[in-house]
Amino acid sequence: MHICDVAPAPLGQVSLSVCADCAHYAWTDAAGSPVDPAEGIASVFGPFPLIERLTAIGAPGGLALIYQVPARYRSRLSVLPIGVWTQIHPALFASQDGMNLMLAPTDPAVSRSVAATG
Ligand SMILES: [Zn+2]
Repeated sequence: MHICDVAPAPLGQVSLSVCADCAHYAWTDAAGSPVDPAEGIASVFGPFPLIERLTAIGAPGGLALIYQVPARYRSRLSVLPIGVWTQIHPALFASQDGMNLMLAPTDPAVSRSVAATG
């Protein structure tokens, strides 16, 4: 039986815990209170420039948005497993390759809003 005991990773003002085994994810603030996933994503990944939109076979929604992560923020990526789509929002999966952030929206409305922030 899978026991989910992933520790929250501090990412600036908020923390994110993700578990690729059971798709559990949680955004919390410094006090441990829940944070809206959309706010968490905007706060942690919002400043990164969108560099590519790809039709991606294997991405949960069929679309991958690639964001360039400045070197000083690259440690934030370590919360995400490399090469595995992990849910971080009701309609958004994320992955990374060590240098770039990849988001895969599963809802077209979310796709438009996150693409607009890039
Ligand atoms: Zn788990």
